[in-house]
Amino acid sequence: MCNPLVFTLNCGSSSIKFAVINSVKNKIVLSGLVDFLGFSEISISWVIESEKYNKKFKKSISYLDIIRFIVCNILKQDLKMYDYISCIGHRVVHGGSNLKKSEIITEKIIRHIRNASFFAPLHNPINLLGIQAASVCFPHLKKKNIAVFDTAFHSTIPKTSYLYAIPYAFYKKYGIRRYGAHGISHSYVMHGASEFLKIPVPKLNIITCHLGNGASVAAIRNGICVDTSMGLTPLEGLVMGTRSGDIDPAIIFFMYNKLKMNMKDIENILIKKSGLLGLSELSSDLRDLEDKYSCNSKAKLSIDVFCHRLSKYISSYSSLMEGRLDALIFTGGIGENSCLIRTITVSYLSLLNCKINKESNMLIKFGKKGLISAKDSVSILVIPTNEELVIAKEAVSLISN
Ligand code: ADP
Repeated sequence: MCNPLVFTLNCGSSSIKFAVINSVKNKIVLSGLVDFLGFSEISISWVIESEKYNKKFKKSISYLDIIRFIVCNILKQDLKMYDYISCIGHRVVHGGSNLKKSEIITEKIIRHIRNASFFAPLHNPINLLGIQAASVCFPHLKKKNIAVFDTAFHSTIPKTSYLYAIPYAFYKKYGIRRYGAHGISHSYVMHGASEFLKIPVPKLNIITCHLGNGASVAAIRNGICVDTSMGLTPLEGLVMGTRSGDIDPAIIFFMYNKLKMNMKDIENILIKKSGLLGLSELSSDLRDLEDKYSCNSKAKLSIDVFCHRLSKYISSYSSLMEGRLDALIFTGGIGENSCLIRTITVSYLSLLNCKINKESNMLIKFGKKGLISAKDSVSILVIPTNEELVIAKEAVSLISN
């Protein structure tokens, strides 16, 4: 039996989320965020029993030094919990075609994660930096690092959903198919919905919307994911903070052939300059756009396009529910907090019998969980996601086995 504390690391390109979880009590002991505020400044903030702490670094420091600070200053000195940590769970965005469930990290698993980097160039290499840093900072736990993949939850989607209609050889030879992402979050809210609705997971038919800076929808039938909006990479699907989501691929030919742009610039536009930012020409942060929704036409347009695309996905996924939709779920920073996005999106869904209750929709934000649907509607739920708890649970289950 292992000690109950798990350290979780979720390393991204603009932030690192970390936590210490008591896996027996399923309780977060410490949660923290490293925010890369610019090239020259980073901020580390953390919360222990509702007490908030913050430290700013003026110069840019390496991933290893950031993790070292967390381990040496917070876990060892302040909390003296370092010795009680029994394993480390890492969120890894892309498992590629070889990694379909959580794995204890070995050299072979690292090779597979590195190989899948081509499909998640912004994420997997950084996830590997976190794994490397953890092995330096926890030398005694080298064999107790676990990778939990964002693609794993979607490994059940059928061929009809994951194949692109391009020559089959691209799938066979190179693994070009849809893999999805945000699976850890979709899985967490699925279990939350099952508990809330008192419907066992194997009987649950729901559509889950994870709406953050990255955004995706999943169709879950009888507790199994049958379709999701992200594709080969996390670029496909919904309108996101800075990512375009679905576009006609011919736009890329136009940019390349007619505008003579190079591939790097095109990639940069679709990943970093599109989505809410590209449409609004103001901000990728929904809060900024919501503030200007009624006074700035581009802010309004970007939000309207976001909701239109989202409602199209939800409507099409309803056709996969075999006639019964138990609930529509919202999660992620936007899904949990934006009553405007929820209102506009659901306004398109009357054919699915989805109707909002205005009062409860207004009240549910800032980490609250609850029903926001009208009495005669399909259940619409807001469930705050908690990827860290899923990662910790997976880690303990693998280590215990
Ligand atoms: P990430 O994908 O980086 O984890 P988050 O899940 O934290 O992203 O979501 C970030 C998004 O959530 C941003 O667009 C932000 O504006 C939005 N958001 C956060 N809080 C609120 C709020 N109170 N109202 C509206 N939008 C919010």
